[in-house]
Amino acid sequence: MGRIVMKFGGTSVATAERILSVVEIILAAGEKRPLVVVSAVGVSEKGEAKITDQLETMASLAHAGKPYQPNLDAIRLKHEKIIKELGLDWDIISPAWDKLLAALDNRERPYCEFLDEVFSFGERLSSRIMAAVLEKKGRPARCVDVDELGIVTDEDFQDANVPAGLEDKVLDGLREEERTLVVPGFVGKTPDGRITTLGRGGSDYTAALVGAAFGVEEIQIWTDVSGMRCADPRLIQDAERLEYISFDEAKELASFGARVLHPKTIEPAMRKDIPVNILNSFAPELPGTIIRNERIKHGKVIKALASKTGVIRVDIESTRMLGASGYLARLFEVFAKYDTDVDVVATSEVSVSLTVNNSRNLDKIVEELQEFADVTADRNKTVICVVGEGMRHTPGVSGKVFSTLGTAGVNVEMISQGSSEINITFMVDDKDAERAIKALYYACIS
Ligand code: ASP
Repeated sequence: MGRIVMKFGGTSVATAERILSVVEIILAAGEKRPLVVVSAVGVSEKGEAKITDQLETMASLAHAGKPYQPNLDAIRLKHEKIIKELGLDWDIISPAWDKLLAALDNRERPYCEFLDEVFSFGERLSSRIMAAVLEKKGRPARCVDVDELGIVTDEDFQDANVPAGLEDKVLDGLREEERTLVVPGFVGKTPDGRITTLGRGGSDYTAALVGAAFGVEEIQIWTDVSGMRCADPRLIQDAERLEYISFDEAKELASFGARVLHPKTIEPAMRKDIPVNILNSFAPELPGTIIRNERIKHGKVIKALASKTGVIRVDIESTRMLGASGYLARLFEVFAKYDTDVDVVATSEVSVSLTVNNSRNLDKIVEELQEFADVTADRNKTVICVVGEGMRHTPGVSGKVFSTLGTAGVNVEMISQGSSEINITFMVDDKDAERAIKALYYACIS
């Protein structure tokens, strides 16, 4: 029987009680010899910050030479409580805790490197706890240390990737291990041994890398919701669960705001043709959403809607663009130089509209672009993405989408369709977003 990967997110390991339910789920999958990937301890009570967020706050104080002891105490207390309630001993994490203290003392390095080492302890602590509970329940288990992980990344701290060709190193020495392996998610290392992290929410990516390296039969992502829905349930309460979606659809949805899966997860799974199953650790008996490598015929042409609010629109206009080669390259170089991702792009011969998600370097970008173009930046925009495999080669879909928006009185600002032809993406004002999504849902999906 093929093996599986089971990845548990922060809310699934947020309390002793939650960890015990997760252990039941792992034990029930016994024959499939699961490879377990865990996130850092997440939020269990309102108003409380996730351990990863707490580590970040502490790292910024420590690196700036400010007092951070209360932050460290709070992180310790949270783990102590869980360990005690599980009837375990602090010894199970004390070697890792000492390493965290040593990392905090090593401040003579760039903040991005310091932060990633501190960040890594969220998962390094939770994975030790999970392995100890499994052992206690009679299932031999072993936590994988960050040195044995074999997740070799580039140097893009806080958002590292495993370059092609290095994927096979993942857990390489551990293929024959009989015990259940518990893998800390989110963490990697540069070839010269500096710790990196894979982007917020990046434990999903770890799960996919482990799954691809072992050629598993399924990658299970256990979260706190039963799969993906065809629209944001905060806006459309009765939005249906998606039973199956294709990798291409999932990629579009994950990149445009569907929060249940980290977008990077899809690549390794897709390359090795491994289905990804999104399940709910709070209701393990319920079916989730299966993402797989085939274009599933579905009665509806439009399958789902995703959206991202608080997006910034940048308009760049220049008559010099007319017939000029290399102009677009020059323009995008400015965004790359300031490490700013561009999401949606629409162009005409003399103007380019694009969207970015963060305003960290926006002023510098605008200033530099103004050397060769007229530039304006508008905030408070929402990107809405309409997705469905059935849109390939079906006439009339965009007609229906935009006439629905017109009838609802929504002003559409920028339209783009990717080469996959399975999405139509456009922008509206934040204040019109909810109206637009509801109108589209009821006209095109429900
Ligand atoms: N702990 C990390 C985060 O909160 C990674 C993860 O949970 O996947 O972003």
